[in-house]
Amino acid sequence: MGVVSTSGSTRLKCLNCQTINHISSVELDFSEVPPNESQPVGRTGHEASLSKVCTQCSSQIGVTYTVWEFPEGNLEEVDAKARNAVFMERCSFRV
Ligand SMILES: [Zn+2]
Repeated sequence: MGVVSTSGSTRLKCLNCQTINHISSVELDFSEVPPNESQPVGRTGHEASLSKVCTQCSSQIGVTYTVWEFPEGNLEEVDAKARNAVFMERCSFRV
């Protein structure tokens, strides 16, 4: 299984106050998703989740990235979820 390298930055717009919050790619810490039975052999998920307090309104916002690697060494897809915020910009990833 590969290691995820991250570049760029994430910008999240707080749903409560519309302020843009920045998350640097270096803040994301990926760990492997435990495999489940429906997952093809050799498909690996790497997940990083981060919560922040909005700089303006102190609302809890956050982001979860799941980077799927299949076959090994190939980035298949990226799931990106924002909590209490919407994406203005996403990091980019390589495996
Ligand atoms: Zn806010």
